[in-house]
Amino acid sequence: MSGTRDSMSRLWAPWRIPYLRKITRKEPPGGCFFCDYAAAPKKDRKSLVVLRGRTSFVVMNRFPYTGGHLLVAPLAHKGELDLFSPAERTESFDQLVRMQKVLQKVMRPQGFNLGLNIGRAAGAGVPGHLHFHLLPRWNGDTNFMTTVAQVKVIPQALEELHAELQKALRTVR
Ligand SMILES: [Zn+2]
Repeated sequence: MSGTRDSMSRLWAPWRIPYLRKITRKEPPGGCFFCDYAAAPKKDRKSLVVLRGRTSFVVMNRFPYTGGHLLVAPLAHKGELDLFSPAERTESFDQLVRMQKVLQKVMRPQGFNLGLNIGRAAGAGVPGHLHFHLLPRWNGDTNFMTTVAQVKVIPQALEELHAELQKALRTVR
């Protein structure tokens, strides 16, 4: 069994462990970080909110699978796709398209993953507040991310990347 821990480290990004522990506990009442962030635009830098629209917004995943892992969510707390208003559908998709271009410019990835986890069983960390995942990908990035998986470097890297994404947003429409 000595190999178990190592193979788990390769399968699970280690910096996600505190997050995974958190989401397997019961959600506290009203404990939705999307709603907290949506309600506090003055804290966007601290919250790592990258872009804010009228009905939808973009925030960096604090526990990313890869660098540049973004989440796009409606500002309103909605857990089903069919509850999205036409404006939310349009704006969230437009933000995904725009953020893909921004990530391309800033991080030069070789590919992207775009996904939506609906329900806890599908892997949703905050199932009550739907959010799209947009991840830049590089050939061999799984190995790379394991190599750089030092939890301490992540917060600083996140803040720097947040600034770079916001700068790129000024020129990418
Ligand atoms: Zn919410």
